[in-house]
Formats: sequence, C-alpha cells, structure tokens
Amino acid sequence: LLKITDLKKQFNGQQILNGIDLSINKGEVVVIIGPSGSGKTTLLRNLNFLEQADSGLMEFAGEKINLAQATKSEIQMVRRKTAMVFQNYNLFKNKTAQENIAEGLIYGHGENAKTANQKAVQALKNLGLDKRKDYYPSQLSGGQQQRIGIARATVLNPEIILFDEPTSALDPELVGTVLKDIQQLAEQGQTMIVVTHQMWFARNVASRVLFFADGEIIESGTPVQIFEHPQKQRTKQFLNALA
Ligand code: ATP
Repeated sequence: LLKITDLKKQFNGQQILNGIDLSINKGEVVVIIGPSGSGKTTLLRNLNFLEQADSGLMEFAGEKINLAQATKSEIQMVRRKTAMVFQNYNLFKNKTAQENIAEGLIYGHGENAKTANQKAVQALKNLGLDKRKDYYPSQLSGGQQQRIGIARATVLNPEIILFDEPTSALDPELVGTVLKDIQQLAEQGQTMIVVTHQMWFARNVASRVLFFADGEIIESGTPVQIFEHPQKQRTKQFLNALA
C-alpha cells in the first residue's frame, strides 16, 4: 500500500532521518517505538508533507512520488488518502465537536455540509459522545478531545491513519479508553502507523514493531521478536531501561 525508500531529512545541518526504508501492507498496524528525540514524529510529518523531505521516494496508491520534489497534486492526493491524529489533538478551539469532525469532510473532501454533519453525528454516536456534539474542546476532557481527533480522522475513510503519540498528553487514567478506540480500529482492518511510548499497545496490537533510534530503523519484527528476542544491542538497551 505504501512504500518509502531512502527518506532523508535534516534540520539545521543535523541529520534527523538517515535513510528510512519502510513498506506497509493493507491492514497492517505498524507501531514505532524508540527514545525521545530520535525522529519518530518527524518521520510521520514527512509522510504527509507537513514537512518536506530532503530526498527519498514514496510509492502510494499506484503513484511514484519524489519526496523532495512532490507536486501540489501529489501532495493533495497523499493528504486525501491519509489522516493524522496528533499528540495535542489539534482541534479547532472555536468549533464544536461536531464541527471539528465535519470540517475535513467539507474542506478536504468537498462533501456538502449536510452529509458531512450527518457523518459527524454518526461518528459521535459510535463513540458514545453524541451528547457532547455541541461542546467546544475546552469543555471536553483530554480523552474526549482525542477521541474526537480520532473520529475526525476515521470519517475521512483514509487508506492509512498516522497516529503521533496519541496518548502522551493524557492523564494516565484516560490513556486506556483512547488506546481501546485505536485497537478497535485496528481490529476492523484499518491500516495505521502508530508512534507510541505505550509498550502495552505495541505488544498487543502491532502486526509489526519498528524500533527507531538516531534517525534510523534499528530493528523491525513481530512484537514477540522485538520484545522477547531483540537482536540489536541498541534495542536491548532501550527495552532494559524501560523494565
Ligand atoms: P519524542 O518521542 O520526544 O516526541 P521524536 O522521536 O518524535 O521524539 P522528533 O520530534 O521527530 O523526535 O524530533 C527529532 C529531532 O528533530 C529533535 O532533535 C528535534 O529537536 C528536531 N526537530 C524536529 N522538528 C524540527 C523543526 N521543525 N526544526 C528544527 N528541528 C526540529
């Protein structure tokens, strides 16, 4: 479904992504773990052109895209077929829960307002949050805001959802509900890439775990391979420090 070859990115002369190769099949749940500051967020942001890579190739939906020289229409195609869920939710503060969900359908996908709002209400019902449809983000808990962030992504029916540390801004007791929403999506066959520090999620939900450090994928495998039988010293060191 998505293949990335030799993706590189520097900031201020510092190599942050050091030649990433990554390929994802439909229905796969790829979970990226690794130390803070290693470039995991930057990798996701390069995949949907929130940042532009210095070099690298993307094959997606039958198109081959030079990441450093992507055209407007290529970028638009990628953005239409992907959705991102952010660490800090990134909801519009002056829009209600329902409006936040409908927004991308109307402005990103050109749907009419009526259908978009119907889909938004249905998404809120599915989450058991329909009573909150007219609430503004400031009137919702962090967990509710993030669940709306996830609904906003799923209504777009994207080929791939990119989750950037979706629970790291949440109080510990709210983490579980948000991860369960994501787990449910995974069970429904949604293809996703999830950057997370929640090892429980990586162990139980990932079809593949990537251990990422210093701008590189150090090791990749099933949760059992990575957590029970890591091959690389760097991976062992990271996992031991968590134990
Ligand atoms: P964490 O788990 O703490 O979120 P991460 O692995 O996601 O970390 P990134 O956020 O991708 O790491 O950051 C990798 C490095 O790139 C950091 O050193 C960061 O300071 C740098 N960086 C990220 N974005 C920019 C930017 N827009 N300009 C300059 N440097 C940046």
